[in-house]
Amino acid sequence: MDHPEARPDLRSLPQEHLAALVASLGERPFRARQLFRWLHLKGAASLDEMTDVPRALREALAARTDLVTLERATEQRSTDGTIKWTWRTRDGKLVESVYMPEADRRTLCVSSQVGCAVGCTFCLTGTMGLARNLTPGEIVEQVHRANRRLVELGEGEAPRPLTNLVFMGMGEPLANYRALEIALELLLSEDGPNFSHRHVTVSTSGLVPMMRRFGEETQVKLAVSLNATTDAQRDALMPINRRYPLAELLAACRDFPMKQGRRITFEYVLLGGVNDTLEDAERLARLLRGIPAKVNLIPYNENPGLGFSSPAPERVEAFQGVLVARNVTAVVRKHRGRDISAACGQLVAEGGPGDPRRRGAGSGPLTGAPRPG
Ligand code: SAH
Ligand code: SF4
Repeated sequence: MDHPEARPDLRSLPQEHLAALVASLGERPFRARQLFRWLHLKGAASLDEMTDVPRALREALAARTDLVTLERATEQRSTDGTIKWTWRTRDGKLVESVYMPEADRRTLCVSSQVGCAVGCTFCLTGTMGLARNLTPGEIVEQVHRANRRLVELGEGEAPRPLTNLVFMGMGEPLANYRALEIALELLLSEDGPNFSHRHVTVSTSGLVPMMRRFGEETQVKLAVSLNATTDAQRDALMPINRRYPLAELLAACRDFPMKQGRRITFEYVLLGGVNDTLEDAERLARLLRGIPAKVNLIPYNENPGLGFSSPAPERVEAFQGVLVARNVTAVVRKHRGRDISAACGQLVAEGGPGDPRRRGAGSGPLTGAPRPG
């Protein structure tokens, strides 16, 4: 018998591949669709749950394939309705998703990698280094497990309470391109979670070649973490800028195929005394000229030991004021789930080797991957 690791994960298969697999077992096409709906509409955690799939087919699948699930390790609920979940992968890694309910939408912030190799100096996930990519199945599982849990909690409409997705959790989504692409296809499929491309946003730190490909191959929305207005500043905060400097990044944004009325969201983390002056705001407005853009200002969520602080609210307001006066749409992102460390850039598998809170305040960012084991 095959080693389980060598078998394909049913949850990671694009719909077409699943159809081909089911056909190869001598089954009719409607069985593939039935199976797909169990996997991606109902979020089944096992083949046993699929009671209307003939036993013989389930047994054939059990012998040839694998079905990966995430296990809920922790759940923390904020006073503002935000919920942060930590999921445990089969190989014992921890990844996080954050649920953010609003009046008109219910959004899940999903992770694309365990850790992140980009290593931005202000970001807690960046301090862990990259442990590994998530598989397509592990990416969509965050959505399935969240939907199922939200139904249990009586939030939203069963079976799919979530309406929006943002790829702004742990990891650089465009550095895990193939898995992201399959996950998006699964998440947008009508027989699955059926998200609208207008309600899905992928955020990147600026992986320029992958942004071009992404623009050609998908229709979902793009967000770019800009965070600085000069190369010197951005080099210091985001090492990726040394490879793809501002001029290249902004050129890729200008070229990005934009559907009618679409805009790129530019995230700008405001770091007290670092990138929050009025001159920064003026430069930001100038950089974005000619790009259909909106700016998301994110007052820094402080992480112990990383050495950055959040600017005073007046400074945030003044920064926003400059942008608005230059006709740049700019909103200040609400803090969500700060009381449970679920806010932007506070996601890290707690207690893991890269968690500065475990290492004690004052330790600098780590480079490279966490030690194995
Ligand atoms: N890796 C991708 C997506 C995940 S990060 C990216 O960087 O775009 C999501 C956002 O959180 C990024 O815009 C990042 O700049 C921001 N961020 C990281 N650490 C933060 C912190 N401590 N406070 C506020 N925002 C932070
Ligand atoms: Fe990675 Fe994004 Fe954090 Fe930078 S901000 S280290 S790209 S997760």
